[in-house]
Amino acid sequence: MVKDNRGRALTDLRLSLTDRCNLRCTYCMPREIFGSSHVFLKKNQWLKFSELDELVEAFVQLGVRKVRLTGGEPLLRPGIDNFIQRLREIHKIDDIALTTNGVRLRKHAKSLKNAGLERITISLDALDPEIAGEMNGLGISPKATLAGIEAALDLGFTIKVNMVVEKGVNESQILPMAHYFKDRGVILRFIEFMDVGNHNNWSIKRVVSGNEILDRIMSEFDVVPIDLSSNKEVAKRYRYLDGSCEFGLITSVTQTFCGSCTRARVSADGKLFTCLFSNNGLDLKTFLRSKECDKSKLLNLLSKHWTKRDDRYSELRSEIVNIEEKVEMSYIGG
Ligand code: SAM
Ligand code: SF4
Ligand code: SF4
Repeated sequence: MVKDNRGRALTDLRLSLTDRCNLRCTYCMPREIFGSSHVFLKKNQWLKFSELDELVEAFVQLGVRKVRLTGGEPLLRPGIDNFIQRLREIHKIDDIALTTNGVRLRKHAKSLKNAGLERITISLDALDPEIAGEMNGLGISPKATLAGIEAALDLGFTIKVNMVVEKGVNESQILPMAHYFKDRGVILRFIEFMDVGNHNNWSIKRVVSGNEILDRIMSEFDVVPIDLSSNKEVAKRYRYLDGSCEFGLITSVTQTFCGSCTRARVSADGKLFTCLFSNNGLDLKTFLRSKECDKSKLLNLLSKHWTKRDDRYSELRSEIVNIEEKVEMSYIGG
């Protein structure tokens, strides 16, 4: 097990499979910036699956036990099913998860299941078609995503739903979303709008805090916290008292959790980021494609990089005056 400067072990790996997406969420890939003139990575700039295999093998040796596939939209990457199968069968990863906007999930759910995937997180910010359409930037109704969720539930996947809450935009959807997913026994996680990337016009005024969200939920439901002292979970978990299910709050802005941040993120083109708010990543692709790369050197490189890690952007947020260009969320996958 390798630990960083602050004693945080490297246990979770997030692999972004593409920087492309079929949505343009205003808080992530605003259309004005990620429009027709935006240059996405070319497919040959993506890490090949064989390179991802090499990386996973090394990360597992360093202590990684959880792998999450993300993007951009990971279901746009052909070959994802075979990769999931190898994660399970060759790399022996028991905890594999996928984060998707769910638009293509209905079509892919069966093959993902056959590949051995068990957990899916689906991002959806509203049930109201107009609000959902405004937030996903393309006017797309939540119908396809909801159908994807139903298909995944029918196949027995463990599902979580992520909802980014933005002031003045979708607060009205907190209770309808809570009702809808509670009735289906699906864990809904409310996420504070974060200042990731450089283009979402973030300001603290646009953040609905976890406490405000909780107040709204408690105006309608009786809830109790589940072990809030546990620092294993990023989400603050609550249970509805009627026993139906639980929900979570991800308070990355108002109640930070850098002290327990154990995640490494690799972008689709093979850069290693040890913080969501970094401005540069370690170029693993160039190393993997160089003649000098072998297993032990790769291990050494990854381990050294993690050991010297000192990230705690969220803790420092209010003190940071000059923010350099940050990595985009669609590039490293949340
Ligand atoms: N496209 C997939 C999806 O939307 O689920 C995977 C990638 S997306 C970047 C991963 C997660 O990041 C999503 O749950 C999304 O809601 C979240 N996200 C993106 N931008 C965010 C922001 N500014 N603040 C909070 N969460 C954000
Ligand atoms: Fe695409 Fe996900 Fe970003 Fe929305 S949050 S634009 S679905 S990558
Ligand atoms: Fe981890 Fe960086 Fe987020 Fe802190 S700000 S929790 S170090 S990703």
